[in-house]
Amino acid sequence: MNTPTNSILRSTHKLYYKDQYLRSTHTKVVRVNSESVELYSTIAYPEGGGQEADFGSIEFPIGTMRFIWVKKLYGTPIRLDGFKGGTLGGVILHVIHPDDLYFLDQVMEGMNVRVTIDIFRRQRLTLSHTASHFLYAAAISLREELKQWTLGCHIKEDSSRFDFLVEDPLSSDEIVEIERRANVLITCNEVIKHTAVQEVEDARMWTYQGINIPCGGTHLESPLLIGHLKVRRKRLGKAKERLICEFPNAVIDVSRYHECDLR
Ligand SMILES: [Zn+2]
Repeated sequence: MNTPTNSILRSTHKLYYKDQYLRSTHTKVVRVNSESVELYSTIAYPEGGGQEADFGSIEFPIGTMRFIWVKKLYGTPIRLDGFKGGTLGGVILHVIHPDDLYFLDQVMEGMNVRVTIDIFRRQRLTLSHTASHFLYAAAISLREELKQWTLGCHIKEDSSRFDFLVEDPLSSDEIVEIERRANVLITCNEVIKHTAVQEVEDARMWTYQGINIPCGGTHLESPLLIGHLKVRRKRLGKAKERLICEFPNAVIDVSRYHECDLR
């Protein structure tokens, strides 16, 4: 196996883009930091685009450490239209649980390891992330100007949300209409596509019924597992609105997750 050099140009192999349903894989340690470990390749999805990071564990020959966050650093900006904020390449760090740091000084570069993710958390985040796109698509179909006034999003296991700047507050009827439109999209039950743009691994497009959203997160292939989407609003101040979606009838299906020997 060729391991990356310790230069700024090194980047972690992102196996989650080759197969999003990987539960574990074998790889090697590249670098050990004070609270995190960098691996040659990983199946763990880092925090990005509003989606929270995976949790999981790394089995070393000397013991197992849990990781409680995953973050990507040192990427270079994607220079494609619509991919503002996205980055290419970069190094992925697995942030180790404080209780497991006591033997981090025994971890050496080049050590063989097995990295495993919490697939229930991953699948809940995947479903929540997919639901967020239906919320967003429904919101901007009703109020097109929201697209340019989107402040950000946060995708958690049990809900997802978008914050917007608004000139005119959304009415209660508009919230009902956004929920209706989102559920119409879901019940169409067409195939969701998620593909790399111009063969750039980190520049990915979510596509459904002609709706294209640049996004590098993890997504369902079919919307029906979301069930009925519930939409509510929270006013954050004079000109800020938060739209939140929840999915109380969601089905968390982890049957597709499997082991991997990709390196
Ligand atoms: Zn997405």
